Amino acid sequence: MERREFLGLASKAALVGGAVAITGCNTGGGATATPAAAGNGQEAAAAVANDSSLPTVEWQMATSWPQALDTIYGGAVTVAERVAAMTGGKFKITPRTAGELAPGLQVLDVVSQGAVPIGHTASYYYVGKSNVMAFGTSLPFGLNAQQQNAWLYQGGGLDLLQPFYKDKFNVIQFPAGNTGAQMGGWWKKEINSLDDLKGRKMRIPGLGGKVMDKLGVTVQVLPGGEIFQALQTGAIDGAEWVGPYDDLKLSFNKAAKYYYFPGWWEPGPTLEIQVNLDEWNKLPQEYQEILKTAAYEANMTMLATYDAKNIAALQELIDGGTELRRYPEDVMSAAQDAAFELFNEYAAADPDFKSIFEQWSKFRDGIFQWNSLNEGGFTQFAYSQFDW
Ligand code: CA
Repeated sequence: MERREFLGLASKAALVGGAVAITGCNTGGGATATPAAAGNGQEAAAAVANDSSLPTVEWQMATSWPQALDTIYGGAVTVAERVAAMTGGKFKITPRTAGELAPGLQVLDVVSQGAVPIGHTASYYYVGKSNVMAFGTSLPFGLNAQQQNAWLYQGGGLDLLQPFYKDKFNVIQFPAGNTGAQMGGWWKKEINSLDDLKGRKMRIPGLGGKVMDKLGVTVQVLPGGEIFQALQTGAIDGAEWVGPYDDLKLSFNKAAKYYYFPGWWEPGPTLEIQVNLDEWNKLPQEYQEILKTAAYEANMTMLATYDAKNIAALQELIDGGTELRRYPEDVMSAAQDAAFELFNEYAAADPDFKSIFEQWSKFRDGIFQWNSLNEGGFTQFAYSQFDW
């Protein structure tokens, strides 16, 4: 019976897959498609550089990140560098840090208005405009990085989200980074029960913040570069950003002692490039394909970078006196209940959220079942030596 149910879920997931908007390195694109993607980079870049029909394009890119965060800001840099390399420098994108072209949480605004052609940001910073924007990044108790990529690229996610961005913001977006499962943030005092959360002030964006609000937390959204000071001065009691490597760079360990896990609100958040649709439409098809491919590369490179760099950073934090704590079971259960209560409230009020949420939920059910078997079956055994 279980097998039949599983196959049922799988076939539903397959049905919604269909033609996805991005097929990345193997994109056909007709006779003028970029052969750079086929592994013949230098020749392809030279061909683009020598093709007098292809214009020189120079774009500024707004980002939500301080330059010091080489992992997440690095996603923007990867896109820019790869586009330049694949076009022999004819399509030049210059990333700018948060605050240079737009405040860190207003990248979508300037791209949507056409003031800036491209941005690199997290879509869930904009849930104030529509809760649908959470799907592009992460939902609490949602998908991990691998599952998020499966949903976006092959599970129908981008097919649903891209028309929404076009209609609502005149923007087209592509995944361009993932942090992997995040940590659960820093607290100056321990959280030993659900009651301990009530009345605490925490920096946490997106729907995770909405869930924390339901649990009695006073929620603030601050860009990465402003968190440390707020935590250090006691303006907030707790803060989350990403994970060991970034959090160490931001010196959160000097402002709070307790480092919680898991980051149940962000099991695998995607960052994305957002491109003004008018500017996108002006690009030759070759440059569109190159930009999509560069975004694909940033999506993979950022995740690999975080995963590799978090190992030593976690050890450094532990060696420096940071104390790791697991969120208590009653917090986890209450948070999960509050999250799905919230999703159902949004679905009842917003047909766009409802249709995407229903499709996403079916995909989540299916891939949770599959991954509990293959990934979970392995990790339960392999990680059992670690007693956190
Ligand atoms: Ca976070």
